[in-house]
Amino acid sequence: MSDAETLFERIIGGEIPAEVVYQDETTFAFRDINPQARVHVLVVPRKRYRNVAELAAADPQLLADVISAAAKVASLEGISSSGYRVVFNTDADAGQTVFHVHAHVLGGEQLGHFGG
Ligand code: IMP
Repeated sequence: MSDAETLFERIIGGEIPAEVVYQDETTFAFRDINPQARVHVLVVPRKRYRNVAELAAADPQLLADVISAAAKVASLEGISSSGYRVVFNTDADAGQTVFHVHAHVLGGEQLGHFGG
């Protein structure tokens, strides 16, 4: 992967403004600029991996941190008990556009079933 900073590194670094929802030592969460549900937050590890497969292979603890942060975001957003979805788009067919792994946390309304 190139050393050029990704969009999300620039958000984490404060160069690009974002509405931060949660952060800790290893993760950073902010609202998606183009929300697909009433609640749509992105959770990214501060350390960059291209996608969830590379993160899982290289640092399973960090993947666990991202999932834990997603659950904290759901709690902070008040959607833990109503339910929510956590999605990692992975590469071309899933439409991944930012190659710094991120979990989408979606909820706050009845979500449609997904597929094709
Ligand atoms: P992907 O398609 O799974 O890679 O998701 C990338 C997400 O980043 C999309 O849902 C975009 O709406 C979101 N996004 C792109 N630019 C920004 C931004 O500047 N701030 C917050 N979210 C962004």
